[in-house]
Amino acid sequence: MIKEDNIAAISTASQPSGVAIIRISGESPLEIAEKMFHCKTDVKDFEPYKMYVGSIDGGNFKDFGMCVYFKGPKSYTGEDMVEFHCHGGQAITRGILENCLKLGARFAERGEFTKRAFLNGKLSLSSCEGLIDMINSQSVAEVKAGYYLYKENLLKKIKESQSDLTYVLALIDANIDYPEEDIEQAELDDVKTRLEKVKNDITKLSDTFNTGSRAKNGVNVVICGKPNVGKSSLLNGILCCDKAIVTSVEGTTRDVVEGTIEYNGVRFNFYDTAGIRESDNTVEKMGIERSKRAIDSADVVIFMVDGTSKPTSDDKEVYEIVKDKNLIKVVNKGDLVKDDYYSGYDMTISAKEGKGIAELKELIYEKAGLAGFNFDGDYLVERRHYEALKSAENSLEKAISAISVMPLDIITIDIRQALLSLGLISGETADENVINEIFAKFCVGK
Ligand code: GDP
Repeated sequence: MIKEDNIAAISTASQPSGVAIIRISGESPLEIAEKMFHCKTDVKDFEPYKMYVGSIDGGNFKDFGMCVYFKGPKSYTGEDMVEFHCHGGQAITRGILENCLKLGARFAERGEFTKRAFLNGKLSLSSCEGLIDMINSQSVAEVKAGYYLYKENLLKKIKESQSDLTYVLALIDANIDYPEEDIEQAELDDVKTRLEKVKNDITKLSDTFNTGSRAKNGVNVVICGKPNVGKSSLLNGILCCDKAIVTSVEGTTRDVVEGTIEYNGVRFNFYDTAGIRESDNTVEKMGIERSKRAIDSADVVIFMVDGTSKPTSDDKEVYEIVKDKNLIKVVNKGDLVKDDYYSGYDMTISAKEGKGIAELKELIYEKAGLAGFNFDGDYLVERRHYEALKSAENSLEKAISAISVMPLDIITIDIRQALLSLGLISGETADENVINEIFAKFCVGK
């Protein structure tokens, strides 16, 4: 277990709060605590994992709080750690932290506690990524996705594949000394079957990425249509507030207005786009450009028309832009509709009266591929993991198609390459830049 210099940071948010936590980790955090914490028991005699109540020295003041000692390697970082639980005033946390620094600790970098946990073998790289997801989570689905990674559930699956591949390598190794013609067909078939099984397991997992990443990152829904069809009214109806400005003057929504809701535990980001039409107005043109960009990155597009009038060339112009997207075609102003100009549309609503909005939300959920999705099952949410699996899949594909055609020792090169790709997920084979990039996403104190 590596024990490094003592690092310290405030681990809770920097705003007034009931309680805050300051952490120290490293070679000798207890020596620092001895000089800062006073209670009936001497700090050097502290039992690990037990909370002691006493006074914490903040330099020019004292606070009354708690101190706990985590003895490495049974600690978050794997090193010795101390936590002070103090009152959450900003001057208090700052004073206590400064005192830790004065007594020899160094201010921790972003994610440095977790990086030490990774380097000490306490957490895999994918588990650390799960932690970031949990810290940044805004919806239940994001918490679940983060927790799945954090608890090493993905890693368990990856390890199964790694151990299957290692077994195949051993099988090949046992046969490799024989000339090719002496290897029994049954043995070649066995190798092939085993490789196919691993490849299928990997494909099954990588196929979950599209929907899984929506569960984690939220679903982007863009509302499109010519001016005045009721896009802003729909956004307001969905958000249940008056975020988008609703007026009957065409071209009022000049930029993309956004709002977020959580539906069935998933975050949905809605974008009300500027009415897309030919315009000479520079500001409106910029809004229209942004609308087009929002459409490009949309998971679901709502194409909206005004049910009280016949389709116009403006409707067609917008439709041409969105027709190949994952589309829901909505007729609005259902409360005034007399003639059916829009047969074949998915639904009629009245954004103004709030009618049909609940059904529309359900349809969006389905269109995003989330209906029936098991948020407690195995699925991928990180592109990095997806790319590693795709690359492993690719190597296995090559290995499988080379069986009976190429010598067995050539096939092992592809199998080893697949193992390297799988190792990227746990971090075993990830390079330093990737590792640093991941920890830079953390906040200080974690
Ligand atoms: P946008 O330009 O597409 O964003 O359209 P707005 O949401 O600004 O609405 C344009 C006008 O249509 C406003 O006067 C709204 O009150 C009206 N409107 C929007 N939705 C409905 C609806 O469902 N029924 C009726 N009767 N009027 C609506």
